[in-house]
Amino acid sequence: MIVAKDKVVSLSYQLKVNGEMIDEANAQNPLVFLFGHGQLIPRFEQNIDGLKIGDKFEFSISAAEGYGEVNDMAIVELPKDVFMMDGELPDDLLEVGRRLPMRDSEGNTLDGLIVEINDDAVVMDFNHPLAGEDLHFIGSVEAVREASEEELSHGHVHGQDHGHQHEHDHDHDHEGGCCGCGGH
Ligand SMILES: [Zn+2]
Repeated sequence: MIVAKDKVVSLSYQLKVNGEMIDEANAQNPLVFLFGHGQLIPRFEQNIDGLKIGDKFEFSISAAEGYGEVNDMAIVELPKDVFMMDGELPDDLLEVGRRLPMRDSEGNTLDGLIVEINDDAVVMDFNHPLAGEDLHFIGSVEAVREASEEELSHGHVHGQDHGHQHEHDHDHDHEGGCCGCGGH
């Protein structure tokens, strides 16, 4: 069986940026995902499309085809009262270099990096941490299997081999808890 649309694919891999290891999944705890459903960067899927179990891969993805270039519009100045809790600014909350989850006007949570703290404002960068970076992947295909009907209808993997949990996995809270994340 080869890597193709609607197959459940398990990968071990290392992600390096500028020679530095950013992320990895090993054979015992692989990244398991449903191929062709937008869970990974499209360019990543193109690079492993058609590989067999045991095949190794190594490729680079430019920033533009990865997490995008750094967008200046995503660097914003927020008034300090945004960070107040019960009318007070918690001690130690604001620190340059810290990432804080923030909520936008539509209720979406976005991680912002504190880049500057002024007297009455905080400058935060909401770009993806890997924006502007070329990504270098090396790894191998550990397993490929058919997806179940249920997995296909949900667009993601269920069950025991759910595998490596990714911070990018935001797709898992169905009502009814089909994935074991919400309970039955
Ligand atoms: Zn599901």
